[in-house]
Amino acid sequence: MNLCDAKTIRQTMAMFSLNFRKEFGQNFLCDRSVVEDIADNCCQNADSTILEIGPGIGSLTHELALRYREVVAVEIDSGLIPLLKYTLGEHQNVQVVNRDVMKTDLRSLLAPAFARGGVSVCANLPYYITTPILMMLLESRLPFDYITVMVQSEVADRLCAKAGSKAYGAITAVLNYYGYAEKLFKVPADRFVPSPKVDSSVVRIRLYRERPCVPLHEPTLFRTVRAAFEQRRKTLPNALSAVFNELTKDEITEAITNDCALPADIRGERLDIQTFTALSDALWRRIQDKQHKDPQ
Ligand code: SAM
Repeated sequence: MNLCDAKTIRQTMAMFSLNFRKEFGQNFLCDRSVVEDIADNCCQNADSTILEIGPGIGSLTHELALRYREVVAVEIDSGLIPLLKYTLGEHQNVQVVNRDVMKTDLRSLLAPAFARGGVSVCANLPYYITTPILMMLLESRLPFDYITVMVQSEVADRLCAKAGSKAYGAITAVLNYYGYAEKLFKVPADRFVPSPKVDSSVVRIRLYRERPCVPLHEPTLFRTVRAAFEQRRKTLPNALSAVFNELTKDEITEAITNDCALPADIRGERLDIQTFTALSDALWRRIQDKQHKDPQ
């Protein structure tokens, strides 16, 4: 069965009396070469387990099962489960789990896979929940080797942006803390059934085993990044003083200019993750000093 053919996809959905569910972001890939390219490039070790989020009718799952040791596929739509049994029945190395990935204990689900060897993530992500899924995967601290996702091209640009560019945002800085993202290729909207309104791109994130940035206090790093981008148009002293109430604006300006040798009128969008880390360390030290001098 050619699971990458638009006619077959529609016929198979009809066979199981299913409609494409917009609320679950169901736009299924219908181009074999794209599916093969994603499967080929999502991981470099055939002995890996692949966590697939949202197998849909199983086209990507099928190609992953041919290339890697095992596929654990988490699908929210219970209607697709019997269909997936039918389309993926030939594969002994596929486990389909009917769950919302955001409510799944991935650590437990993947414990046997992590015990055996490498685990990577591969997903054509539903548009409605791209960023929450990505943040959940990164913040889970599970030692994935790669996270390869198909996302809207605009989101892909943001994930892979360089500091100082228009597309650079809080998610770029946070992602750079956990790993290195690269855009692999673009996928036009007409390679999906039904076609979405926008083009997509495939992004591969290589997670760091040892992070190049080690902040003194991680929550302060994330707080600094969030504050800098919440008020993107403001200069850094103004944006940070709206959030860091423990420090005066002068103290924040000194942390920026004296401790980090940055200009006072700099905006957060110019700071890469290394500079954010240095700045968050400076803010953290000043907060600690103040608390020791003036304990409440
Ligand atoms: N992998 C298939 C493909 O490439 O053709 C389908 C991709 S489709 C864009 C997204 C898939 O994710 C759908 O099957 C949808 O039902 C599923 N999905 C949506 N939200 C989900 C969630 N929270 N947890 C697990 N699966 C989800």
